[in-house]
Amino acid sequence: MADTLSLARPAPPSNLFAANVLGVTHYTDTLFAFTCTRPASLRFRSGEFVMIGLMNGDKPLLRAYSIASPAWDEALTFYSIKAPNGPLTSRLQHIQPGEEILVGRKPTGTLVLDALSPGRRLWLISSGTGIAPFVSLIRDPETYERYDQVILTHTCRSDPELEFGREAVAAALSDPLVGDSARAKLQHVTTLTRAPHAIAGRITDLIAGSALFFKLGIPDPDPAHDRIMICGSVPMLSDMKAIALARGFEEGSNHQPGGFVIERAFAS
Ligand SMILES: Cc1cc2nc3c(=O)[nH]c(=O)nc-3n(C[C@H](O)[C@H](O)[C@H](O)COP(=O)(O)OP(=O)(O)OC[C@H]3O[C@@H](n4cnc5c(N)ncnc54)[C@H](O)[C@@H]3O)c2cc1C
Repeated sequence: MADTLSLARPAPPSNLFAANVLGVTHYTDTLFAFTCTRPASLRFRSGEFVMIGLMNGDKPLLRAYSIASPAWDEALTFYSIKAPNGPLTSRLQHIQPGEEILVGRKPTGTLVLDALSPGRRLWLISSGTGIAPFVSLIRDPETYERYDQVILTHTCRSDPELEFGREAVAAALSDPLVGDSARAKLQHVTTLTRAPHAIAGRITDLIAGSALFFKLGIPDPDPAHDRIMICGSVPMLSDMKAIALARGFEEGSNHQPGGFVIERAFAS
């Protein structure tokens, strides 16, 4: 009995769930993803973020993370940076299957379908780990029920940084639940800023000058029926927000659905 007690993990703080890590994939020196069990009472909407972390002594060390799996999934997926000397990720990057992570009880966020007014074409514009919430949304059947066309753009510096997104799109295309819809409606567009690529450059430049739309053979976004979600660095968000406002889009929120919504992929 004494042995059982000494091996038992301490209960997490009351505002947190404990989840068990199921698998970890390292993509580059600076990027990895992991899945963990989903606490039975955790509810969230596809596209939301939640606080996750590890115990640090007797206190939790928590950071905001987009949930990169859809609301219906039995497991949770997170896609993570390995920030140099980052308090959380310098430890989190070494996490192994069977170990425990902490998950907040209150997912939230604006990159949700309900924050956009009805439209026909959905643009999901991401850079770096900002693709994570959209990986959730492209596996949610409601995304395809609401839109005729879904265009996911992902901008990174080099090709290996695109791999998580490529795998996620392949998973959506072969998913028994959304595969038919994704094959008919989902388009994945990648751009690189520091290596040769079919489409090269910052997404903000490609959109501001309409080169992206010309390249894709799609008309420039129209506030009447296009809807836009944006997730990236603070400068990327402010540039994209200015572009969206200049094109006549109104920012939406959970309380007031609109033409576009934004969320930081990380704090500066
Ligand atoms: C709403 C929201 C959602 C987020 N979702 C994710 C997510 O899905 N995946 C993820 O990896 N991070 C995400 N973050 C960032 C995350 O909260 C942490 O900052 C990150 O995990 C690093 O934690 P840290 O303690 O190691 O270092 P921190 O002290 O938090 O950061 C150290 C440095 O790394 C930079 N940095 C932090 N995160 C990133 C990133 N993702 N990409 C590039 N540079 C970064 C910071 O600007 C800072 O200069 C999100 C942040 C917010 C606000």
